[in-house]
Amino acid sequence: MKNTAPIHTGRHFLQIPGPTNVPDRVLHAMAFPTIDHRGPEFSELGKEVVAGMKRVFQTDGTVVMYPSSGTGAWEAALVNTLSPGDKVLMFETGHFATLWRQMAGKLGIEIEFVPGDWRHGVDPALVEEKLTADREHRVKAVCIVHNETSTGVTTRVGEVRAAIDRARHPALFMVDTISSLASIDYRHDEWKVDVTVAGSQKGLMLPPGLGFNAVSEKALAASKTAKLTRSYWDWQAMLETGTTGFFPYTPGTNLLYGLREALKMLLEEEGLDNVFARHRRHGEATRRAVAGWGLEVLCQDAREHSNSLTAVLVPEGHDADKLRETILDAFDMSLGTGLGKMRGKIFRIGHLGHFNDLMLCGTLCGVEMGLAKAGVPHKPGGVAAALAYLGEA
Ligand SMILES: *Cc1c(COP(=O)(O)O)cnc(C)c1O
Repeated sequence: MKNTAPIHTGRHFLQIPGPTNVPDRVLHAMAFPTIDHRGPEFSELGKEVVAGMKRVFQTDGTVVMYPSSGTGAWEAALVNTLSPGDKVLMFETGHFATLWRQMAGKLGIEIEFVPGDWRHGVDPALVEEKLTADREHRVKAVCIVHNETSTGVTTRVGEVRAAIDRARHPALFMVDTISSLASIDYRHDEWKVDVTVAGSQKGLMLPPGLGFNAVSEKALAASKTAKLTRSYWDWQAMLETGTTGFFPYTPGTNLLYGLREALKMLLEEEGLDNVFARHRRHGEATRRAVAGWGLEVLCQDAREHSNSLTAVLVPEGHDADKLRETILDAFDMSLGTGLGKMRGKIFRIGHLGHFNDLMLCGTLCGVEMGLAKAGVPHKPGGVAAALAYLGEA
């Protein structure tokens, strides 16, 4: 009988903006036997990964880890710091900001959701205006997404911090870095962020399954009086992990083996600054390819281009998902779909995590060949423009 399933040779190209490609050595590290999570060997592992994650968050504060997706880490940030009826300020930068807002609503938090056009990041001036107007300090937290994975727009977190300071407002500052941590520069302490939310499957080059909070002293103090119901997500039981290496319940032991290996690659071998520079370079090369094709990047502010993914608009009358399907069928490459109101209008190229020049070239070739195959109007010069840039930069 003839096999009708598509035949794949060589490696699949997983160029969605998360989950990202997991390095073979991280997979191998995860293949070791699971150990006693209450034993001495585990304690060393626990301490080591917490210490490494502090360096990645650029914090001397507290880091907690959950066996969860990023969504769990969102919930942990909210339920540990807020009480029913508390007001928070959130910004509609895209699909993920919208989902976090929906979660906050379900938890009984009152939200002011500042509308946005999905083509810009959070406007620091607007943050200052909203907080200055809140003379009674009803707003308990400002929650933003650093890198909007649905749009490829990166908010200038340092400038938002400065805006909160100018307004002299005491609100907690919470930032989702799920698709930026360990690929785009992020400074938990310097930017005085109170809770940073992260996940394992994007810049950290791991499979899905670990959620993180980096927590400031101010957030810890808030958790003492916060009244939202919490149990699984309670920071309290997690606070000792950095010193004991132990977790209150069974952690994702093998994912932590993988994390230890990924941290070695990021911190000891490549170095975070080089990791950020590599992502900047690949982001720029990708944008040059898009310009070369005569297509438009969704992000409209040059200061806010994401260096971990690029969202590309397809011309009116063409379906971005048809293009993605064509590329998957013909070239075995997965690209990100348009989420929420961007469905069918954009496709997203992930260029983060375990990645190099030739993987980017292969990715861009797949897009250029796919545009031709799917009959999407474009100019042929995208790959050439990216190659020229990579050659000189
Ligand atoms: C991926 C992502 C999430 C969701 O994380 P899950 O692990 O799927 O729960 C949230 N926010 C941003 C910015 C993301 O990129």
